[in-house]
Amino acid sequence: GGDKVKNVLVLMSDTGGGHRASAEAIRDAFKLEFGDQYRIFIKDVWKEYAGWPLNNMENQYKFMVKHAQLWNVAFHSTSPRWIHNAYLTAFAAFYAKEVEAGLMEYKPDIIISVHPLMQHIPLWVLKWQGLDKKVIFATVITDLNTCHRTWFHPGVDRCYCPSEEVAKRALLDDLEKSQLRVFGLPIRPSFARAVLDKDYLREELEMDPNLPAVLLMGGGEGMGPVKMTAKALSDALFDQETGKPFGQMVIICGRNKSLASSLECLDWKIPVKVRGFEKQMQKWMGACDCIITKAGPGTIAEALIRGLPLILNDYIPGQEKGNVPYVVNNGAGVFTRSSGETARIVAGWFSNNADEHKRMSENALKLAQPEAVFDIVRDIHELARQRGPLNDPPYALTSFSSLI
Ligand code: UDP
Repeated sequence: GGDKVKNVLVLMSDTGGGHRASAEAIRDAFKLEFGDQYRIFIKDVWKEYAGWPLNNMENQYKFMVKHAQLWNVAFHSTSPRWIHNAYLTAFAAFYAKEVEAGLMEYKPDIIISVHPLMQHIPLWVLKWQGLDKKVIFATVITDLNTCHRTWFHPGVDRCYCPSEEVAKRALLDDLEKSQLRVFGLPIRPSFARAVLDKDYLREELEMDPNLPAVLLMGGGEGMGPVKMTAKALSDALFDQETGKPFGQMVIICGRNKSLASSLECLDWKIPVKVRGFEKQMQKWMGACDCIITKAGPGTIAEALIRGLPLILNDYIPGQEKGNVPYVVNNGAGVFTRSSGETARIVAGWFSNNADEHKRMSENALKLAQPEAVFDIVRDIHELARQRGPLNDPPYALTSFSSLI
């Protein structure tokens, strides 16, 4: 009947923190908006179903981003479509069977990809199975600006773009206007809809109640010049004359355990909290007054929602580069690679340059799109409603091997 629970398969990969955060945002928004009408499965398909090298993508990614130039070459050399098509065709031949098994297990009515490499193979498998007209396939792009071309596939039902710039690129890559929606980057509802009181949060997080606070981080993996910046800030936020700090610092290292332990050994002149991977980022951002981070799209979008001026001190070449002008040109922050400069800017914001801090905070709030994730799930719901329930049994799959 029409009120059958629909299965939604969200395809992601744990590269960085961003893809998982977006996947979880979509799951939580479906729950809040539509309760039990949808059953959501978040799957790292590569990890579970594919063999080497795709199940190793996480480690390869970490290796690559640590060796930025290598990543730069990989990113740009896979950009021309004929190259990545050939490359993906080869992978598809190896792994289609595993992807197929994933489809069999979850029997999705809707597939949502939040990963640049998860359009081609799933769409091919759907086509081979004659399911492409039945199963809704949507891409949710999680890069704010300069995204990789593998995000774009003309065979999708919808492609959700976080910015007009990304939508323009999609049009150049043969998507139709009718396939595109520009709502913003999906951010976890716990973030977007939280009512947060700074005084209360500071008490809960055991921070100084009065000193302005800077949040220092580097994405889910704790990347970028975190340690050098922390040291510079410890000096810059300490007033030599009075012998007192005029700011405090929270350093969130994410999954970078060695960074966290090396920071814990240091002596600080100002109040400092060193944390590992935090599940409640909205609280830490709500308790702070500005943020220093690499140009990760998730962190940027979250900081904008909280009205935190940003200092971007690093970016992953390729997909994160365009996030820098997105922030800077909209007056919501600055970019500098110098940790001394970073510390001077924060010290200014916390003393004689408070006006600039206030202006950037207002610009950040203007740029924020806390409703994006709800707009996305409502639009998918509308698509699903138009298409109606899958006729049983749509998943009588022909095995891939019998086709070759
Ligand atoms: N994040 C988190 N806890 C941490 C560090 C990061 O939940 O301790 C989240 C952060 O809030 C953001 C995501 O991880 O949603 C990082 O995504 P981003 O796109 O900024 O960078 P990535 O880690 O994907 O390179």
